[in-house]
Amino acid sequence: MKALQLVAHGNPGRFELRDLPDLTPGPQEAVVRVRACGLNRLDLWLEEGGLPIPLRLPRTPGCEMAGEIVAAGEGVTSWRAGDRVAVQSNLFCGECEFCARGEESLCLNGQLLGIQRDGGFAEQVAVPARVLVRLPEGVDFDTSAALTLAGSTAMHMLTDRTRVKPGDWVLAIGGASGVGSAAIQIARQLGARVISTGSTEAKRALAQRLGADFVLDSTRDDWPAEVRKITGKRGVDLVVEHVGGAVLEQVFTCLARGGSVVTCGATAGREPTLNLWPFFVKQQRLIGSYGRNRADMAATLEWARDGKLKPVIDRVFPLGQAAEAFAQLRGRAVLGKVLIRP
Ligand SMILES: [Zn+2]
Repeated sequence: MKALQLVAHGNPGRFELRDLPDLTPGPQEAVVRVRACGLNRLDLWLEEGGLPIPLRLPRTPGCEMAGEIVAAGEGVTSWRAGDRVAVQSNLFCGECEFCARGEESLCLNGQLLGIQRDGGFAEQVAVPARVLVRLPEGVDFDTSAALTLAGSTAMHMLTDRTRVKPGDWVLAIGGASGVGSAAIQIARQLGARVISTGSTEAKRALAQRLGADFVLDSTRDDWPAEVRKITGKRGVDLVVEHVGGAVLEQVFTCLARGGSVVTCGATAGREPTLNLWPFFVKQQRLIGSYGRNRADMAATLEWARDGKLKPVIDRVFPLGQAAEAFAQLRGRAVLGKVLIRP
């Protein structure tokens, strides 16, 4: 099988398209023929060696894959060859106290597929059968590969880590990003009024098409003041944040009394400062969110089947042009998702 392997970290890193032996599943594993795999910021962090976890090369990146099962290993009873599946990329043990109660995103023995194990920028991937989620009828591989990582991250943030009530004000940062584009749609479906941000005209237009009621220019220093103006000085009930750094500091000035900030990323900085006085006087919350549970994946795919959550696909590349896809995402000239079809 063909696989794209990262052989040296860098910006850009060095990739090689290699011919590797076909995979055979171990006990409780399945081998999936990958049909589409989304590209994510996580892949860029792997490329440049910028993750706070030990990395070994060569490594096949890719963590947002969909395809069909080609072989099921010993002890796998609920899957057979030909089944169409999405793959949950934060691998979980299924046995620790958190997995036992369905909180796989808190697993004590978690591993990241495409980072600590070879991922989906390859014709085949071998994974524990417990991380497979069945694709609903009518959901194609591209849709799954464009939604199941960032989309289910947003699903976890908005329906598990926090709750959204009809009429709430929700601020979804970066409305053209994977998490932001899903957060706008999910918040709207839950009856919220949505404000979003974007750094270019095209990104703001996309956020508006996805249902945001107001979209602000994030390159202007006064966008937090605009949020306060739109909400009649009240502020928003919930901020869906994934940037970190100065943006995390700014969103607290947009937050209503009793409001929450839920965050799942820190591209712009991992050590923001927080003024605790307004934070506790206004009884606000800062909530961490990491990955997703299996239930969030299933919900994301069901919403996609029902037309409540639409993928935003910018461009699809063949495996041989994967390095170009990485460059495009790094250049931030992307509206929605970049996919690779191995
Ligand atoms: Zn576990």
